[in-house]
Amino acid sequence: MDKASAILSLPSEPREFGFFLDGKWVEAGDRDVFERASPGHGVAVTRIPRCTTDDLDAAVASARAAFNDRRWCGLSGADRAAVLLKTAELIRARTDEIAYWETLENGKPIAQARGEVGGCVGMFEFAAGLARSLHGDSYNNSGDGAFGVVTREPVGVVGLITPWNFPFLILCERVPYILASGCSLVAKPSEVTSATTLLLAEIMSEAGLPDGVFNVVTGSGSSIGQKMAEHMDVDMLSFTGSTNVGRAVVEATGKSNFKKLGLELGGKNPQIVFADADLEDAADGVAFGIAFNTGQCCVSGSRLLVERSVADKFADMVVEKLRKVRVGDPLDETTQAGAITTDAQNRTILSYIAKGQEEGATLVTGGGVLDIAGGQYIEPTVFTNVTNDMAVAREEIFGPVIVVIPFDTLDEAIEIANDTEYGLAASVWSKNLDTALTVSRRVQAGRFWVNTTLAGGPELPIGGFKASGWGREAGMQGVEEYTQVKSIHIEIGKRAHWVE
Ligand code: NDP
Repeated sequence: MDKASAILSLPSEPREFGFFLDGKWVEAGDRDVFERASPGHGVAVTRIPRCTTDDLDAAVASARAAFNDRRWCGLSGADRAAVLLKTAELIRARTDEIAYWETLENGKPIAQARGEVGGCVGMFEFAAGLARSLHGDSYNNSGDGAFGVVTREPVGVVGLITPWNFPFLILCERVPYILASGCSLVAKPSEVTSATTLLLAEIMSEAGLPDGVFNVVTGSGSSIGQKMAEHMDVDMLSFTGSTNVGRAVVEATGKSNFKKLGLELGGKNPQIVFADADLEDAADGVAFGIAFNTGQCCVSGSRLLVERSVADKFADMVVEKLRKVRVGDPLDETTQAGAITTDAQNRTILSYIAKGQEEGATLVTGGGVLDIAGGQYIEPTVFTNVTNDMAVAREEIFGPVIVVIPFDTLDEAIEIANDTEYGLAASVWSKNLDTALTVSRRVQAGRFWVNTTLAGGPELPIGGFKASGWGREAGMQGVEEYTQVKSIHIEIGKRAHWVE
């Protein structure tokens, strides 16, 4: 088939899923079932059980039993690595299937979904190396009578709550690292995008992961997610989603067992463009940074700070690029930007577009909905005449909407960039090394890009400063995050007695 013109077909009926407990599928039975409609087409594509609190308890108990009897954490790093590498191989072999269900539930373009699955293969391969190289430290400098050893131990049972914008990618930025550390886990995907998390559990079981090490419960965040945050037998929770729910999760953990927390939350990420940048590259990068995944990325570059001398010209260049972005049916191989994933998100984005106009910003392109394939689509949108105190400049819109704010000096650019509650990501565009390095040092963000954006890989940790979160996922730090440190003091020789 000619890939450039191919459009995959929708499933003839929604696929039925169970949830994944103790290495086996459990059918929905008499539980409620959530039917997910493809946001790109408005057609039912999956049916997912709504797990009960008893199901969650059973999943946590399964992960606890697997941890306590050491069937996974007791293996050598080499044995754990073998399972992670086998998983990488199986994911690669099932790329098309995973990408298809990801696209149906999420609305992202099929070609992009395939690319993301490829990235996930790399996460498993890299984490396999970490399973083998994870180590502690030793202190051989305490004199002849003592020896100090610092070890890293897996935290235990991890609860993993993931969002709907990158259901498989965000999952795979965490699961292989959690497992490399020796932890066992219970995942709770967003209810609207559960399919690929369930597929991963099945794949890992086939790859040889012992039963109970990776369980998946499905259902809504306000029920199952909240209960997971409150659960007394979950040792650590990794949460990715909105800052508001992040706050609720912090509260819930404080009221329960003080479980360790990893949080990746919202962002209002600056793209800082200086007059000496390659403006053509920068315009392309800025357009990509806001239209990729329809701007539904926590790291989308949603504030364009541009040096005043080139601000008008550069805004025109970005507008021209965004008008050419192919927004379309996610199942069409040529589509670059697909549907808005949830009805609520669609309403949120449209309300911010209206708010920007009420606040006095100028809508220079986009702002409208597109009638495509029966789904929900919004045009890439640019606002100029924006000041950093407007809601469209301060609040996370999580859609294809960018605001343009001019600046006069490097110091002013840094001040505006940091004038936000968030600190997730930022980009600088400049051919001047001093400028690029100074900005990269002074902007408060957990991820920083120079003359590029939305780039990365399994080696580079992700996470935020300020209200964008706690801790890091991926990279060496990503596996260490799921460990706790133990200091072991060893006495050598005869003890000097305290009581004579
Ligand atoms: P949420 O923060 O509500 O959802 C993220 C995850 O948390 C989902 O799995 C959700 O489950 C779950 N969840 C929801 N409520 C609770 C709770 N009380 N306790 C535990 N888990 C919970 O994000 P939304 O889907 O509502 O999106 C709202 C906004 O959040 C977006 O507009 C965007 O600004 C931001 N966001 C940021 C993301 C990021 O990557 N940083 C990702 C997604 C959203 P379920 O979906 O099943 O309810």
